[in-house]
Amino acid sequence: MNPQVASEDNPYHAMEARLDLAAARLGLEPNLISILRTCEREITVSMPVVMDDGSVNVFEGFRVQHSTSRGPAKGGIRFAMNVNREEVRALAAWMTWKCAVVNVPFGGGKGGVVCDPFKMSKGELERVTRRYVTGIMDFIGPDRDVPAPDMGTDGQVMAWFMDTYSMHSRNYLPASVTGKPISLGGSLGRIEATGRGVMLCAREALKHLGMNPKECTVAVQGSGNVGMISALQLASIGIKVVAMSDVHGALYNENGLDLAGLRKHMQVQRKLDGFKGGDRLSNKELLELSVDILVPAATENVINSRNAAKIQAKIIVEGANGPVSAKADKILDDKGVFVVPDILANAGGVTVSYFEWVQDRMSFFWTQREVEERMERIMVDSFAATVDMAQRFGESNRIAAYMLGVDRVAETTRMRGIYA
Ligand code: GLU
Repeated sequence: MNPQVASEDNPYHAMEARLDLAAARLGLEPNLISILRTCEREITVSMPVVMDDGSVNVFEGFRVQHSTSRGPAKGGIRFAMNVNREEVRALAAWMTWKCAVVNVPFGGGKGGVVCDPFKMSKGELERVTRRYVTGIMDFIGPDRDVPAPDMGTDGQVMAWFMDTYSMHSRNYLPASVTGKPISLGGSLGRIEATGRGVMLCAREALKHLGMNPKECTVAVQGSGNVGMISALQLASIGIKVVAMSDVHGALYNENGLDLAGLRKHMQVQRKLDGFKGGDRLSNKELLELSVDILVPAATENVINSRNAAKIQAKIIVEGANGPVSAKADKILDDKGVFVVPDILANAGGVTVSYFEWVQDRMSFFWTQREVEERMERIMVDSFAATVDMAQRFGESNRIAAYMLGVDRVAETTRMRGIYA
């Protein structure tokens, strides 16, 4: 790690710090560690796009493939103003470990386009998406690299993605991307999958700790697809959702928020502000609430060395990727917080993406129940394997999950050998 650029907030360094600990614990060969620390391929594209007012804006886009050792690269595409290459690298590596933890046959990749999807018209968004697909076209595909939604992208963006990829390939290729609308080969249960996985992890954590969901409270940071669905799913097993937030701030009600009303309000207003069912708090205050469970489902590094000591939750279930910095890991461990790490907690999404890819390749579609049952089995087994690893090695759940994932990637990398 270069000390010049090493910082707590650099997500790639956060990933490397955990990888190094897991690799040391597994006794991995140094050569293998250097391979796993590096991304296989990074593509940067600059994309001139004609805006609605006739001006031309040159957007920057990335696609990073961290590993294809266990299968095609897999991972979402983020549309955000602050997305950058270092972040996309980290997100790509996290996808590698995540796919390996739940044992789906994919490597890891991630994409990003520097843009503000909320300020662009539908036409502008479509042109940016199609231009991005064309830019990375030669490096992706059902057997190479399969994108999906992430922050700032949705089913409509995936539909344009699939159409552009199919048009250029002169073939109908729905397996080129996941998270599509159902009518285009999307899978039932994909939209809910990440939030449902968060709920299943919370449920398993409570069972493990001997706590009753009906006597528990949760605060959810974020109210996008992951935050909102996580909240609804957690409420469905009797947990009281006392706080939620968006980028502008949080809402708190000790008797439980009216989630149905809040969801309706969000659909119309696209923000929490103005909803009368609780007291306003800041995002910082939400994280420090005295609750049983905390679900950070927004962005990276929200729990860091500056606030980790103030966290009062007994359980943290990481809906977001990288919400806890590597420095905060130790502080939370010392406090005895039970952390379900991102590469396990939010893996429900990519698990159902895998099901979508399988269904598209067979052109044979499963019922919602089949999807949910298969996903539940994978999440419950992966949770148990992580906790078991943690207990056997006396490690945190996070390092245990990395050990599970890294070991599987190391195994295929070793078996495939170094081609020269
Ligand atoms: N963006 C999601 C994640 O971070 C889903 C990725 C996928 O389904 O490929 O896990």
